[in-house]
Amino acid sequence: MSSTDDLRGRRAPLDLTPEQFKTLGHDLVERLGDLLATLPDRPVTRGESPGEIRRILGDHPLPETGGDPTRILSEVTEQLLEHSLFNGHPRFMGYITSSPAPLGILGDLLASSVNPNLGGYQLSPLATEIEAQTVRWIADLVGYPATCGGLLSSGGNMANFIGFLAGRRHQAGWDYRKGGMGGPEAQRLRVYCSGETHTWIQKACDLFGLGTDAIRWIPVDASLRMDMRALRRRIAADRAAGDTPAIVVGTGGSVSTGAVDPLPEIAALCREEKLWFHVDGAYGGVAAVLPDAPEGLKGLSEADSVAVDPHKWLYAPIEAGCTLVRDPKLLVDTFGYKPPYYHLERGEAEPPINYYEHGPQNTRGFRALKVWLGLKQVGREGYIRMIRDDIRLSDAFQEFIEADPELEAVAHGLSINAFRYVPADVRSRGLRDPEEYLNRLNTELLTRLQLEGEMFPSNAVLNGRYCIRTCIVNFRTSLEDIQALPGIVKEAGKRVDKALRDRP
Ligand SMILES: *Cc1c(COP(=O)(O)O)cnc(C)c1O
Repeated sequence: MSSTDDLRGRRAPLDLTPEQFKTLGHDLVERLGDLLATLPDRPVTRGESPGEIRRILGDHPLPETGGDPTRILSEVTEQLLEHSLFNGHPRFMGYITSSPAPLGILGDLLASSVNPNLGGYQLSPLATEIEAQTVRWIADLVGYPATCGGLLSSGGNMANFIGFLAGRRHQAGWDYRKGGMGGPEAQRLRVYCSGETHTWIQKACDLFGLGTDAIRWIPVDASLRMDMRALRRRIAADRAAGDTPAIVVGTGGSVSTGAVDPLPEIAALCREEKLWFHVDGAYGGVAAVLPDAPEGLKGLSEADSVAVDPHKWLYAPIEAGCTLVRDPKLLVDTFGYKPPYYHLERGEAEPPINYYEHGPQNTRGFRALKVWLGLKQVGREGYIRMIRDDIRLSDAFQEFIEADPELEAVAHGLSINAFRYVPADVRSRGLRDPEEYLNRLNTELLTRLQLEGEMFPSNAVLNGRYCIRTCIVNFRTSLEDIQALPGIVKEAGKRVDKALRDRP
């Protein structure tokens, strides 16, 4: 008997029999269906401490030998269903994270079962065409030319990075791809954005060799939109100083308040000044689909590159971001290399898309499927309805806040509300610094709300005021949920207020 005889009809430890796979899968889908059915009755989170969570998981060493797959899957399913924060809960409204679409959940299972590698066409023919169609559909949805280039990425940060890198490629007048970013020309590149811009811009300038000092933070007006006169002045001053203005970032829906920069004006200025215009539409970009979208937002159709985030307002399960670039050739100019170990061209009349040349990733997953399924399931009309309803709920919440003497409305844009709990008598208590007290009170209130799990908001700091902030990108949220919010906030607020006053 040869020493490899045991490899005939090999059975690897990781494999399941098709029967086992079906049994485990049916059971899992059953439990996930029950999760969806019971979400509204569960807390958004149990607010357990890291220590408690670690005890639940157990501090086990790496297993030397394996275990029973049925038991392992069942145990971890139980743990995850009992000890997770559910952003699919109707009262989850923190940060900008949506409920995952059920069809998208199944799409992820299908995607990893087929397991195409969307780095190369050969390895993912139909999947690559689905991604290309998804990119065209997203472009169509937001009013961007469907002839654009683009691809999916892990999220808004990566989608913005890709647009930023395409902009750097377009604007840099030297071969930094070979010589790097160490030279004097690189150190003079300047990037313009408002102070409301998401932190991806610091990461991008840091990671890609411009340095964060390259960022020109442009002031905002009273509604937190970029001040165009300040932008013009800053560009002129930089040119006069011998710097190289390169990229202007406009935000289509800011993280804190949903503010929309004047994108059409920025587009016109960028054309005039020959600057790259990138729009961060990670949150609000797809709201451009609304026939009555804010005028400013529609200007994203004029951008050189746009980032949108399907795992936000397209309700795709995490992760999915998307970059659109007007010039379809530019991504390959930015990211393409042709290594000797790939044989991906077969001389076809229609050259296939090899996405590894269009972005930073090599092996790429089938993120597009869950996004494509959503677009196919509900179409433009369905997204218009869901996005509009999220905004209508946010408008209704704004009315409740404004009508409530103990809640102070601070900002409201798209589907975001920022507000404070202000006890009726706080200003008559003779406090030395009532504003400082209100900040402490609302900071502790937010912690309390996030741990107690009745609703899940996040925060914003606006003009030095610490605010509770909700963002509804949640197709499960109903009017009843919104109606319950003021009561939940005020009840917790009273307890925190009392605790702070009783504290020596
Ligand atoms: C969410 C968001 C980002 C970051 O996106 P991720 O998906 O979290 O990486 C960037 N910009 C804006 C405006 C956002 O709302």
